[in-house]
Amino acid sequence: MSLFSAVELAPRDPILGLNEAFNADTRPNKVNLGVGVYYNEEGRIPLLRAVAAAEQARLSAHAPRGYLPIEGIAAYDSAVQKLLLGADSPLIASGRVVTTQSLGGTGALKVGADYLKRLRPDAVVAISNPSWENHRALFESAGFPVRSYRYYDAQSHGVDRAGMLQDLQQLPAGSILVLHACCHNPTGVDLRLEDWQAVLEVVRAKGHIPFLDIAYQGFGDGLEEDAAAVRLFAGSGLDFLVSSSFSKSFSLYGERVGALSLVTADREESTRVLSQIKRVIRTNYSNPPTHGAVVVSSVLNNPELRALWEAELGEMRDRIRQMRLDMVERLAAKGASQDFGFVARQRGMFSYSGLTPEQVERLRVEFGVYAIGTGRICVAALNQHNLDAVTDAIVRVL
Ligand code: PMP
Repeated sequence: MSLFSAVELAPRDPILGLNEAFNADTRPNKVNLGVGVYYNEEGRIPLLRAVAAAEQARLSAHAPRGYLPIEGIAAYDSAVQKLLLGADSPLIASGRVVTTQSLGGTGALKVGADYLKRLRPDAVVAISNPSWENHRALFESAGFPVRSYRYYDAQSHGVDRAGMLQDLQQLPAGSILVLHACCHNPTGVDLRLEDWQAVLEVVRAKGHIPFLDIAYQGFGDGLEEDAAAVRLFAGSGLDFLVSSSFSKSFSLYGERVGALSLVTADREESTRVLSQIKRVIRTNYSNPPTHGAVVVSSVLNNPELRALWEAELGEMRDRIRQMRLDMVERLAAKGASQDFGFVARQRGMFSYSGLTPEQVERLRVEFGVYAIGTGRICVAALNQHNLDAVTDAIVRVL
């Protein structure tokens, strides 16, 4: 009898399983739309020129590799705050924001969840239906019961606003709300500013704790535009948390660069909150890694590199938008039996295509086009070389 003899096999991550099947597929025209990363027109994950330049400078500097502070690089944390809240944010000036470097957006959610469990052990967590699949698992593993609030409306391919507000209202007072600040994963469907205002009012009335997750800033309408919800909360006088990620916007997936930010009542409170967050980090992984945060912070804090990065981010955003338009147009031109105009109205890397599990299955088996069973496709994996094959296949399975 070994220590592990009775251990059960955990269920396989469905997306990783799909990737394995894709890799094993020998058809030359196969296309993987199941991924959650941005590919360029050549079908590769780009290495941004701004990133390469910052890496070159770092390499030449031969900097020693000591430990970082528990909260990460100060210049990085400060750049993150400005990106989220605006460079002239009064919250930053008055010391109401605590930011710690994290292991990607996931690490920020995990540290935030662990901290909230200490602060509000009996709270309920609510996530959108549907949501990024790791949201539920993360908050459950932190010990919270996780419910979902209505979000996606399959009929309109939009947000079920009334249902969402009703569900937020019916949650126990003081619930933790995980909210996608922009470019909702998996649906691509976002709230309008007036909807955010309505959400904010429920949050205020019910004393809910907003936890804004922003993993795609710059992939929707622009860096500033995509921060609108965060800025709305910032102006509300409420306390809230933000998890942010540079995985996509810097194409630095494997470097694990993200941040957890908390907005408090005042500078003195910030000092106490930071001391507690540092305790959570210390007992998890001690302190964060250096490379990704050095790169991001040197790009964000150098005007030339920053301009280059913003231009490259703009190229990624524009390419995705163009693929949305081209996909809609190509499907219509090929005589698709339904209108896909909603794809062009969605934001970010993903689209809930409306394809059924059976249609997704046929796409894979008959045409080598891989998508998630829910119909989620990664628009950022489309390009001019594979668009015809993909739209042909979709029209055939409709
Ligand atoms: N939140 C959402 C909504 C995401 O889609 C993702 C990743 N795809 C994350 C958080 C985590 O980001 P990271 O890869 O930086 O951990």
